[in-house]
Amino acid sequence: MKVLCIAAHPDDEVLGCGATLARLVRERHEVAVAILGEGVTSRSGLTSEQQRRALAELRDAAGAASRALGLDAAPRMLGLPDNRFDTLPLLEVVHAVEALVREYDPELVYTHHAGDLNVDHRVTAQAVSTALRPQHGRRVREVRAFEIASSTEWAFETSGPAFRPQIFVEVEHTLAHKLAAMACYEGEAREYPHPRSARALRALAEWRGAQGGLHTAEAYELVQRREAEREAA
Ligand SMILES: [Zn+2]
Repeated sequence: MKVLCIAAHPDDEVLGCGATLARLVRERHEVAVAILGEGVTSRSGLTSEQQRRALAELRDAAGAASRALGLDAAPRMLGLPDNRFDTLPLLEVVHAVEALVREYDPELVYTHHAGDLNVDHRVTAQAVSTALRPQHGRRVREVRAFEIASSTEWAFETSGPAFRPQIFVEVEHTLAHKLAAMACYEGEAREYPHPRSARALRALAEWRGAQGGLHTAEAYELVQRREAEREAA
């Protein structure tokens, strides 16, 4: 099976579905990651030289995180402006996603939840839904939305629907890879009790596991599912 993760920022792919991607790689599925935004330029007070250095560091971190998950290739980075996806015409983001889908031709897609606090997450969710509207001849048969610690649960009543997962993927054996991948993003990790701390991420995985009757899990909301008849042999 071909799997594509479409994330807004470097580290969202790890927070959202890192342990699941690591498990899929171990099960010999073909896994690719695309990151739409550059993740740096919304930080205040950086000179252009500091920005350039921060972008290079983030790119290196994303590559190291991918290796920690066991992926063959570094993420594809599209470089949309950080925390300003809403200033772009939606169609531009949709076209970027459509190009990714044409290139990777995935069957299963992981992406953001439409109700997140972060605007780039919401625009990504909307662009993916638009780009993947059901069409004859397309291979995508399932789209799943992930949760991002410190964005999905902070949305409260502000932006959109609450995250109510129905899919629980057991990751007992690959949670350690997710935490190792997260450690590659030194600038993004936080001390407990921040939701992005290793301890909180482990607690979330245990809670999602318990919800699903599993040991340790990542949870998803089903966005879209299509079941075509098999081609006659
Ligand atoms: Zn993000």
